[in-house]
Amino acid sequence: MKPQWDQTIKLPSKNYVCGHCNESIAEEDGYVGGYRDHRGSMRTSFIYICHFCGGPTYFDENEFQFPGSKFGENVRHINNASIEALYDEARSCFSVSAFTSSVICCRKLLMNISVAEGAKEGEAFAFYVNFLNDNGHIPKNGKKWVDSIRKLGNEANHSISLKTKDEAKLILTFTAMLLKFIYEMPGMLGNADD
Ligand SMILES: [Zn+2]
Repeated sequence: MKPQWDQTIKLPSKNYVCGHCNESIAEEDGYVGGYRDHRGSMRTSFIYICHFCGGPTYFDENEFQFPGSKFGENVRHINNASIEALYDEARSCFSVSAFTSSVICCRKLLMNISVAEGAKEGEAFAFYVNFLNDNGHIPKNGKKWVDSIRKLGNEANHSISLKTKDEAKLILTFTAMLLKFIYEMPGMLGNADD
């Protein structure tokens, strides 16, 4: 059930990825607002309504999009609620440019995946990356990622260095690949009608 919005107007068509449903869309329905800045120039912002999910997206006068699009692919068949929630949180952090938080979420996620796959709790992050690697959860061509991920995850918790967008993108992409490998692909085999 999607919300109906009253008295929307036709706006200049806009292409964006909806942060609510992740669809790539072109929209022209929504609302416009504005004010005059101290130089007297008109500053205009918009709210576009997604025709898929009905979710509103705000674009300020500098074209900043809120909510931003979530980075990372949708992963199906995750049968563990806390792993699913952490993945969603990592993607949401990324969408609001909270890159360090996104990296920390992914780090916790990799630990939770390992424990769900039989690793013991309370170990250091590197232990879990090695566990996933040694137990065949990281595909052969993903192994070159392992060192950079190990380095990224450790730094986020033990030093104050802030993470960049590229670093967050790297660990989120790696995490999505792992989740697909561990949950989505076996799940697809388990559901003949899927
Ligand atoms: Zn949407």
